[in-house]
Amino acid sequence: MKSVAVIGASLAGARAAQELRAQGFDGRVVLVGEEPHRPYDRPPLSKAFLAGTAERESLDLLDEEDAASLELRLGTRAERLDPAAGRVVLSDGELAVDGVVIATGGRARTLPAAAGVAGVHVLRTLEDSVALREELVPGARAVIVGAGFVGAEVASTARALGLDVTVLEALETPLARVLGPELARACSGLHARHGTTLRCGAVVETLLTAGDGPRRRVTGVRLAGGERLPADVVVVGIGMVPATGWLAGSGLELGNGVHTCGGLVTSRPNIVAVGDVAAYAHAETGARHRHEHWTNAVEQAPVAVANLLAGKVVRPYVPSGYVWSDQYSGTLQLAGHPEPGDEVVFVEGSAGDDAFVATYRRAGATVGVFALNRAKQFTRLRRQALRRPASVA
Ligand SMILES: Cc1cc2nc3c(=O)[nH]c(=O)nc-3n(C[C@H](O)[C@H](O)[C@H](O)COP(=O)(O)OP(=O)(O)OC[C@H]3O[C@@H](n4cnc5c(N)ncnc54)[C@H](O)[C@@H]3O)c2cc1C
Repeated sequence: MKSVAVIGASLAGARAAQELRAQGFDGRVVLVGEEPHRPYDRPPLSKAFLAGTAERESLDLLDEEDAASLELRLGTRAERLDPAAGRVVLSDGELAVDGVVIATGGRARTLPAAAGVAGVHVLRTLEDSVALREELVPGARAVIVGAGFVGAEVASTARALGLDVTVLEALETPLARVLGPELARACSGLHARHGTTLRCGAVVETLLTAGDGPRRRVTGVRLAGGERLPADVVVVGIGMVPATGWLAGSGLELGNGVHTCGGLVTSRPNIVAVGDVAAYAHAETGARHRHEHWTNAVEQAPVAVANLLAGKVVRPYVPSGYVWSDQYSGTLQLAGHPEPGDEVVFVEGSAGDDAFVATYRRAGATVGVFALNRAKQFTRLRRQALRRPASVA
């Protein structure tokens, strides 16, 4: 293999490009990114960067040495992939390459009624964060649609900036699918304790607006059932859609992401997928998973690159399941793979406390560790209880 195109210049793409060099690949590496920026980190976009306490430069994922070892094609969109010809059609030309890393992540999902309405925001990109920050003024009324990790983080940042914040969640308990009902309830209690109103089972029917044309601006939301909630700013945090449109007609298997085997390799041995866009079949169970977490992208890059360079699967992907989220004055940390029905055992503190540690137990074994504001204990328990197979770095 003499040349590799990495499509998508964000966390997964940057890590894959670095890994190619780290694993000894000395051929051509072209990193193609639709955004005009060098790869930057997204987690601060809902936290310190949104709050105005982190500088733009602190988000950079590549240093000068990294950048010098790559061909960066920024502000360039991959339009099409022709695997048989080894060709990637770009918005400004074409690339002929031997290998491809697909790292195109996803785009923020939004509400159909949001198009062209000022004051309604999603949060995925640097520009989104900058635009939202301008509207987070003390005393303003913010309605956040969706109480997932990003919605909860925006709510906590907005509260800290002095806004009056309401979070709307369609489910009865936010994050219950990730954390299980007991710990999800414990986390959603953080909102009320910090002065945010959390409304569960609240389905947004439409946005309320005033003005016409370019002056049309949000004034609130109407819930199913007719209730109207006034708002000066609305943030839609209802997840993302994997960016696979450019792969239509490529022959690759697509679904909710790019389908790969348990080694992150597509149906073509010279094309792998990493990060939020990769929908892999678990090496042991065969079940298909796609994760939208920082650590997942970082852990997948070395595995996908090793398998790409080997031309076959030499390493399976075994996720650690590590996720963190900063909300209000606390940090939530989860590792492992909790499932519905797991028993939650508190190791320190209890659900109503501002700091606690708990484990998830199944058939006598610890399958997950969760902590709120207990980083050291979390790390120790995670190391002791969730030993990872030797095949994964
Ligand atoms: C606001 C926010 C806060 C977050 N906070 C946390 C957190 O606290 N903890 C945590 O674990 N995770 C967090 N995450 C999730 C984490 O940031 C993502 O999992 C990570 O960014 C995934 O990286 P990725 O490279 O796979 O995808 P992305 O970051 O989505 O990057 C994909 C890149 O590909 C580009 N692209 C798409 N299509 C094309 C194309 N056709 N041609 C060229 N380029 C293309 C996109 O423009 C983008 O730059 C957060 C995410 C957001 C948005």
